[in-house]
Amino acid sequence: MQTTIVGFPRVGANRELKFATEEYFRREITEEQLEAIAKTLRQTHWNTLQTQQLDWIPSGDFSFFDTVLDAAVLFNLIPQKYQALNLSKLETYFAMARGYQGERGDVTALAMKKWFNTNYHYMVPEIEDTVTIKVDASRLVAQIKEAQQLGITPRPTIVGPYTLANLAVYTGKKQAQDLYPKLIEAYQEIFTIIHDLGCEWVQLDEPAFVFDLEDHTQVEIKRLYENLLSGKLQPKVLLQTYFGDVRDLYQTLIDLPVAGIGLDFIEGRKNLELVQTNGFPKDKILVAGVINGKNIWRNQYQQTLNTIEQLQKEAQVVLSTSCSLLHVPYTLENEPDLLDTTRAHFAFAIEKLTELQELKTILTTKDKTALQHNQRLFAQTRFVKNQTVEHAINSLNAQDFTRLPALATRAAIQRDTFDFPILPTTTIGSFPQTKEVKQWRAKAKKGELSASAYQQKLQEKTAACIAFQEEIGLDVLVHGEFERNDMVEYFGERLAGYLFTKKAWVQSYGTRCVKPPIIWGDIYRQAPLSVAESVYAQSLTNKPVKGMLTGPVTILNWSFPREDISLKESTLQLALAIQAEVLDLEKHGIQIIQIDEAALREKLPLRKSDWHSQYLDWAIPAFRLVHSKVKAKTQIHTHMCYSEFTDIIKEIDQMDADVISFEASRSNLDILDALRKQDFQTQVGPGVYDIHSPRIPTVAEIEHTIEKILEKLPVQQVWINPDCGLKTRNEAETYESLRHLVTAAKQKRRDL
Ligand code: GLN
Ligand code: ZN
Repeated sequence: MQTTIVGFPRVGANRELKFATEEYFRREITEEQLEAIAKTLRQTHWNTLQTQQLDWIPSGDFSFFDTVLDAAVLFNLIPQKYQALNLSKLETYFAMARGYQGERGDVTALAMKKWFNTNYHYMVPEIEDTVTIKVDASRLVAQIKEAQQLGITPRPTIVGPYTLANLAVYTGKKQAQDLYPKLIEAYQEIFTIIHDLGCEWVQLDEPAFVFDLEDHTQVEIKRLYENLLSGKLQPKVLLQTYFGDVRDLYQTLIDLPVAGIGLDFIEGRKNLELVQTNGFPKDKILVAGVINGKNIWRNQYQQTLNTIEQLQKEAQVVLSTSCSLLHVPYTLENEPDLLDTTRAHFAFAIEKLTELQELKTILTTKDKTALQHNQRLFAQTRFVKNQTVEHAINSLNAQDFTRLPALATRAAIQRDTFDFPILPTTTIGSFPQTKEVKQWRAKAKKGELSASAYQQKLQEKTAACIAFQEEIGLDVLVHGEFERNDMVEYFGERLAGYLFTKKAWVQSYGTRCVKPPIIWGDIYRQAPLSVAESVYAQSLTNKPVKGMLTGPVTILNWSFPREDISLKESTLQLALAIQAEVLDLEKHGIQIIQIDEAALREKLPLRKSDWHSQYLDWAIPAFRLVHSKVKAKTQIHTHMCYSEFTDIIKEIDQMDADVISFEASRSNLDILDALRKQDFQTQVGPGVYDIHSPRIPTVAEIEHTIEKILEKLPVQQVWINPDCGLKTRNEAETYESLRHLVTAAKQKRRDL
């Protein structure tokens, strides 16, 4: 019995790679220095894997930015505009990752997208018709040699050809299939290089195999792999899948001349059943992903052992992680403040290596201490259950998820209540988080600024923010969210049931890392979350100030969830907590409440066939639960960040908010057609300018955007707002842009 992992995190236990790369970007260190730091990190990681007695160690899981980008560069999938800059290899790589602005030109970065159902982002390869596929294996080779110097025969990992070709975008006539012949030759060339270096195996990552695959795609994959694996087969190929099951492809995969198949038994709901009913070939190994690569809880050994026992009836099993450990933090060693009784329940990347080792010991020796220890842990009650929460959830009924009266009736009542002009203007919530604001927060945290002095400063900031919004003539104001570090962390810190870490960073994209809070126990609201800030802001003006909350689905999606209860149940707990806040805001005279669901789309299952049963059927009702009990005249807003929701428009309407704002400016307002065609009922504020860019939109530009919106949507349905919160912008840009926005809206009102 052997152990392995799909991949290891690379930013470093203390985010060394992040800091070094940023220093390099600022020209504070040289390319050689950056390379040296990266090399040391790789060595540290390999040493860790060796110390933890991992049998089978990967290479190629390191990256300066992203492994999909690495694969693109490996095969020379480099668009002309980057090649034309004539930069060094590393600089070309970073130009693709981040764009380039300098003496040699001005090019934007490749697009960035969420990696399957994770919060990690990959760089989308861009393929031109003129592309010349050729191999530059220098990095791959260097890393194999580095591992060998440490006495390791690594298993190089590369994104597989199907996933690579199908995640790419094509700028000309070429399509994925046109790439296959040359790509196959290139992979085969790499196989030879790897083999000549003395490596026995290569790992090809094909997470795209877990989507719903139609018959013709199944045939396409079969042909692709048969061609790839034709001829002399060295090294052995491990076909690694993750993030789901391979139900459409199982038979195809087991018939391929690969030497190993990696399956995910955590998220791959049907994988065990597939192995049991169809069997598994004797000439291959099954790399069984039984340790969760995405969550931070300890593995329940007895359950895992049962799965392994089932698998061993059919196959020769290697113990592994469900996906790369990239998606979990490094180590609990970095969390000295956690109580031992708490810590015992977690396993970050390094502790997961221990779990693999312990499972192997249990399976192969008479020593069962680790199992007994683990059983004791899971027999413990981790926290005191909250009876009130449990009771509240059990007594929920259909009415709790239905807001009355219906949308159209409410709209009429709200028209009378607010008497807004047509094309009412508002913002999404946050105003610039200036250095000053961040400093106050940091000082308050360290105790260098008293709580009351901090409050005072925030109130001054809010007062100025309200005054500015009144002055320029916005219709619905916001308090500015100056008290918030992050839209999830802020609420998590105030809700019972959450746990926070110090250094549990996870890579989100490039050098950016996030620190998701952990849902530890039952969630409930122990005290008001935002009432004081909203009430204060409202006291300063006669115009309505929006209460500003984060919705339950987004809070869940940006946290590490519990595994002892369902996601649905956790979301309902969050929904009830936010509902209490909504009703409290209403009671305190807040007439408009925005409940952001920025990340609603994030956990949408990879298979469309699972969308409803596994997610939307509870996620959408959870949002309705939050606002179902407010008065007809209280206006509920929501906001979503990605405009990629043309395929869930009906469901978004079913959230039954009164108004929704969303990012639209960068997608050419394409979504408006879909809204119209699908008879979207909720009032909408399609963002009229892109807040992600420092550019200040002109009045004429915004007017033009408004005209385009009005070509598609009835004027009574439309709100005017930026496309997201303004916290990342500076004050000067923001003030100017918002002035332009209001001027443009007013001008349009006159024209109509
Ligand atoms: N209200 C939040 C803000 O303005 C929304 C942020 C978001 O959608 N990501 O910052
Ligand atoms: Zn947003």
